[in-house]
Amino acid sequence: MTKRIFRSVLLAAAAVLLACIVLIMGALYDYFGAVQKKQLREELALAASAVEQGGVGYLETLGGETCRLTYVSADGTVLFDTNASADTLENHAAREEIREALNSGYGESARYSATLLERTVYCAKRLSDGTVLRASVSRATVPSLVVGMLQPILLVLLAALILSAFLARRLSKRIVEPLNALDLEHPLENNVYDELSPMLTHIEMQRRRIDGQVAELKKKQDEFSAVVRNMNEGLVLLNRAGEILSINAAAAAFLSTDEGCVGEDFLAVDRTHEIDRAIRAATEEGHSEIRIDRGGRAYQLGVSRIDANGGEAGVALLIFDVTDKVFAERNRREFTANVSHELKTPLQSIMGSAELLENRLVKAEDVPRFVGQIRSEAARLVSLIEDIIRLSQLDEQTELPTESVDLYALAKEEIAPLARQAEEKRVTLSLTGAPVTVSGVRRLLSEILVNLCGNAIKYNVEGGSVTVTVRDGGENAILTVADTGIGIPEEAQPRVFERFYRVDKSRSKETGGTGLGLSIVKHAVQAMGGEIRLESTPGNGSTFTVILPKMKK
Ligand code: ADP
Repeated sequence: MTKRIFRSVLLAAAAVLLACIVLIMGALYDYFGAVQKKQLREELALAASAVEQGGVGYLETLGGETCRLTYVSADGTVLFDTNASADTLENHAAREEIREALNSGYGESARYSATLLERTVYCAKRLSDGTVLRASVSRATVPSLVVGMLQPILLVLLAALILSAFLARRLSKRIVEPLNALDLEHPLENNVYDELSPMLTHIEMQRRRIDGQVAELKKKQDEFSAVVRNMNEGLVLLNRAGEILSINAAAAAFLSTDEGCVGEDFLAVDRTHEIDRAIRAATEEGHSEIRIDRGGRAYQLGVSRIDANGGEAGVALLIFDVTDKVFAERNRREFTANVSHELKTPLQSIMGSAELLENRLVKAEDVPRFVGQIRSEAARLVSLIEDIIRLSQLDEQTELPTESVDLYALAKEEIAPLARQAEEKRVTLSLTGAPVTVSGVRRLLSEILVNLCGNAIKYNVEGGSVTVTVRDGGENAILTVADTGIGIPEEAQPRVFERFYRVDKSRSKETGGTGLGLSIVKHAVQAMGGEIRLESTPGNGSTFTVILPKMKK
């Protein structure tokens, strides 16, 4: 900036200086030229009248005059010259001023010297005898004057140079200093020259626009981060080089890393062959999917190539925890297989007995036994189908309408019909506790009571007891069904709630069990927002505890 100002100032100064010199010198040169010419004419007139009167002798008396006088005859021969010997001078008839004077009585001309540094002005006058008297004077030309003034001109130029440098430094400092001090964060608060106002207003507008855009971008980024962070699914974004651009908490947990691995090569974080292969496949084909078991859970990985600007920008990995789905699928498969099996056994027995009866292969006295068998197997089938229907209803019904139910009164109601069954097994059945109102579904609560009490009687020992207790547990109602029966081995305890699981298959069948009772109980309890626990010691008995939310007053 300083350099440019310096150059401009210097150039302007030099141009002004030169223009001034040229103009002044031109004007002075013309003025003095005119004065000199006028003097020359006067001197010629004076000398001419003197020669007219005194002849050439007058000229001989002259010496050291301001102008040179040359006296020429009518044929151009130099008769006398104040500055040179007349003999050495050539004939002047061809000289312009002489020629003019001879012709018209007066002539003028000007000629440059050989070096162009001098210019000689001539004035010639024809005298009465036909001779011509010429006066001439030489003066320096403009170039010679300039050459002569070179030193002062150079001195002035040097002064201009120094002054320009000084001015340029000061000017640039004065211009640049406020510019450097500009507060571009608050452009309109700057108090500098007016010329900057439009620019500062423009900057302020741009700043506001950029601030707005940055805020909008940040908001979107925050929203995106919040969504990604709180996603249940894992999400990993990789760039083309396979480096991690973004990873959320779920994905970090899956890969046993933390969110600080951003920027690292994915292979450094996870070397699983299948995942690497899936990423490669997605890069080539656009999408790939794999299922992986890790830490006892099942995961579905969807890998998609991200294309941008006509090329591959990276890869996105979506990780879904599909353990429940896989579990449900397996359960469904097992359930279907179990249902078929459970239905087939009594049906085969029915068909076998029916065939024997049809072919009259049964003795008359055995017929009632075979018919009874068909009836009991059919009854088993009916109860199995009823249980399956109950379970599927529980599976389908997501939200059941609840009502306030006195659990104690309901237990009393449901236990009564079981008294005969208990008596047959010589088991004492009793109910203790106090009325507690729960928020539940009456039908499901009945189901729970009948199944738990039924099992407690079924899997009891002769002379044993079943105690049903209903009590207030603060926020919850607590129902316990305790028996003194055969108990459940520890390893079987977590499995008794599974569909069709029986500890002792033959005993369960003997007692007409379907293996679905406890499964229905667990579902029913969960459907009402409750919880079921089991404590059991083989040989000593079992206690099932059901915790249900109380009706809020
Ligand atoms: P089931 O129709 O066979 O009784 P459940 O689902 O009701 O089927 O019970 C599953 C299994 O759990 C039973 O087969 C039995 O082996 C065991 N079980 C359930 N309740 C008791 C209990 N009170 N005492 C001992 N074993 C029990």
